[in-house]
Amino acid sequence: MPNFSIGVDLGGTNLRIAAVTEQGSLIEKVTLGTKTKLGRDQVLNDMCDAVRHISDKYKDSATLLGVGIGVPGIIDMQTGMMRESPNLPGWADYPVRAEIEKRLGAPVILENDANVAALGEKWLGAGRHVGDIAMLTLGTGVGGGIVLEGKIWHGMTGMAGEFGHMTVEPDGQQCGCGNRGCLEQYSSATAVMRMAREAIANGDAPGLAKAANSDIEFSAKEIYNLAIQGDDQAKRIFRRVGRALGISLATMINGLNLEMYVIGGGVSSAWEAFSPAIFEELRQRSMVYAATAPSDPLAMPSGASGQVEPGTGRKTIITRALLGSDAGLYGAARLPITR
Ligand SMILES: [Zn+2]
Repeated sequence: MPNFSIGVDLGGTNLRIAAVTEQGSLIEKVTLGTKTKLGRDQVLNDMCDAVRHISDKYKDSATLLGVGIGVPGIIDMQTGMMRESPNLPGWADYPVRAEIEKRLGAPVILENDANVAALGEKWLGAGRHVGDIAMLTLGTGVGGGIVLEGKIWHGMTGMAGEFGHMTVEPDGQQCGCGNRGCLEQYSSATAVMRMAREAIANGDAPGLAKAANSDIEFSAKEIYNLAIQGDDQAKRIFRRVGRALGISLATMINGLNLEMYVIGGGVSSAWEAFSPAIFEELRQRSMVYAATAPSDPLAMPSGASGQVEPGTGRKTIITRALLGSDAGLYGAARLPITR
C-alpha cells in the first residue's frame, strides 16, 4: 500500500475522519457525533481514539504521513492555536495542535474548515484539472479559501480568504463581524431563512407562509423547493443570494484573475435558483470576467463542471463544488501530503 494520511473534519455537529492515500484514494471513512456539550477534552479524546484506531490498522503496511484537521475557526498558523471558535466553545487559546501531536505521536496540521474545503475541491473535485482556484462555502455562514499552486494561500496571519465578510450592501444588515452588509448576510442558509421570515412578515409571501406554518423543519432547502416550483417570493430570495454572490465574485475576479471560482456548502444545492443572477451581475460588474467569460457559462446542466476539461484554460469558470461535505475531509487529508 502507498503512503497515506488522515484527514479530520471537526465540525460543531459531526466529527468525520478519513484515511486517504497520497494519490487521493479513500481507504476508510468514519463519522461520529461531536460531543461539544461534554467539553473540549471529551471531543479531543474521541478524535484521537478514532485516528489511532484507523492508523493502527494500516501502519504495518504503509507510512502515515501525518494528520490534517479542519476546524471551524480562525487559526494562528504559527502557534497552532485557534483565535476564535464560536462553534467549539473552549477551544480558543488552547494549544490544540501541540496537544494532539503529543497524543498521537504524528505530525498534525490545523487549518480553517473553509480553507480545507477549497484544497479538497482543488485536489479531487471541481478544480482538479485547473490551476489556481478560490472557493466560497455557503453554509450557516459564508466561508472562503484560496488555493494557489496547489497550496492554501494564508496571507500574513492565516486570515486570508474571508470572503464572507466582503461588503455587498454598504448600509445593509448588521453582521456578527461588526460590519454591515456582508456577503454572509445575503448568501448563507441563515440569510435565506431571514429573508423568508421578512417576506412572510410583510404579508406578501403566501407560499412561504403556508410552508412555514405546516412544517416545523422549515429550512433553506424547503425555500429552494418552492423556488423550483415557481413561487415568486422564494425565487426572489434566491435571486438576492445570486446577486450578492455576483457582486462579490466580480470583485474577487477583478482582484485575483484566477482560473476557477467554486461555490460549495449546503446552499450550493440551490445552484439552479441562484446562478443565473450571478452571471447577470458578473457581466455588468467585472471587466476581467467580461474579457475571459466562457461563451455560455450556464450551458452545462449541472453547472460549469463539464467545461472543465484539461487545456481549456484562459476562461474564468464559475462552478459548483463536486465533493459535497467530503471536500473538507479530503482537503484535510491533503495537508500532510503537501506540507
Ligand atoms: Zn461580516
